[in-house]
Amino acid sequence: MGYTALHPSWGRLDASVNDLGCGQSWEGIHRVRQVVLTCPECGGRVFARVSLYGLRHFYHQVRPQDCMLANESPEHHLLKLELALAARASGWHAELEVSSQSGDWRADVLVYDVQGRPFMALEAQLSPQTPDEARIRTDRYARDGVGVCWFALTGQPWQRSVPSLLVRSPTERGEPWVVWQGMRRYDWAPRTLRGKAKWSHIARPLGEVTGWILGGQALPYTSANGSVSWTAPAYITLALERARLEAEAEHVQHVRAEEKLRQAREERRRQALARAAELEQERQAELERLAGFFRHARMDAALWEKFTQMVRSVSGKNVFYGEQSPRHGNGLLVYTRPRPGQRQRLAGVVCPDPRALRGWDPDLTILVPTPAWLSWIQAGVTSPVKVAVLNPLTGRTIFHRESPTST
Ligand SMILES: [Zn+2]
Repeated sequence: MGYTALHPSWGRLDASVNDLGCGQSWEGIHRVRQVVLTCPECGGRVFARVSLYGLRHFYHQVRPQDCMLANESPEHHLLKLELALAARASGWHAELEVSSQSGDWRADVLVYDVQGRPFMALEAQLSPQTPDEARIRTDRYARDGVGVCWFALTGQPWQRSVPSLLVRSPTERGEPWVVWQGMRRYDWAPRTLRGKAKWSHIARPLGEVTGWILGGQALPYTSANGSVSWTAPAYITLALERARLEAEAEHVQHVRAEEKLRQAREERRRQALARAAELEQERQAELERLAGFFRHARMDAALWEKFTQMVRSVSGKNVFYGEQSPRHGNGLLVYTRPRPGQRQRLAGVVCPDPRALRGWDPDLTILVPTPAWLSWIQAGVTSPVKVAVLNPLTGRTIFHRESPTST
């Protein structure tokens, strides 16, 4: 079923208008045997007919498989006519079933501006299509400067990808068709960031909504999540204003967070510097404390740090230095740091005077920095001792067990 047909001498006929769109009358083609009418889509022979509901249309003598007009459902047929009537009721010139010159689209209803240029296609899309197909077909119209609104009766996978409206047919005679989804309003009150804002669908008669769309009082709007719907320009302005406020607030927050991070970094750097200064002070104080020992051991204070590292490395423990001990030949006592609840333990003695080795505890390691010190120790042993030579100049460690040389 279609609303259009080709007449051999009158040209294109539109059954939805009284004069057939060409200044002729329905009586001139309805039940007139000698007139041969053809389908503008497939070229097959069609006849004028009035449906049970009084709708004038054309039907194919033989229904071809591949003619879109021949295979339209009755609902499609009705919605298409409703869309044409709505456009005309808003004061626009609208034609049914119009193909583009290149043939890459055929509008169910094509609406023309006052200069006679087509600017909007109204598509009753009751058969399935994918979101990609909907976008491709929308782009084809756009290339010819024509906008498009897709109409469906129930929710569709493509409805948020392209400008579309869901409509409902009247249940009672005389009631209007109604748009129930796709036309949205934006509520935002109070108009501050804390104010609640939301989009909601509004239900309105199809004729009214069609008038808004054709008159520019409703525009397609793509929201931040990419979904497309129709709304008034004033609502778009509001939504953009809200988005601007949100972006500003986000920026301010970002700047504040950055400043906080910077301050935290600065504070960490300051603490690290203070800690380093403290450690340096401690180190200097320790060197001063040990000045007497260095003279006794004939050691360069500059090598002390390296020597200490080697002591820690061979002991495998956390150690610290005690006092210079007269009982241990003025050697420096080395302790392991005690765990909580334990006593510190003497782990070794650095550079004891060899004359103090008489009766030396055989388990108490003697630590020396040079081979010369080892020689002095060797010369003085009277009982077995353990000696570790930790040479800070070479970085080498040698362990010795010394016993008195038998003569
Ligand atoms: Zn056909």
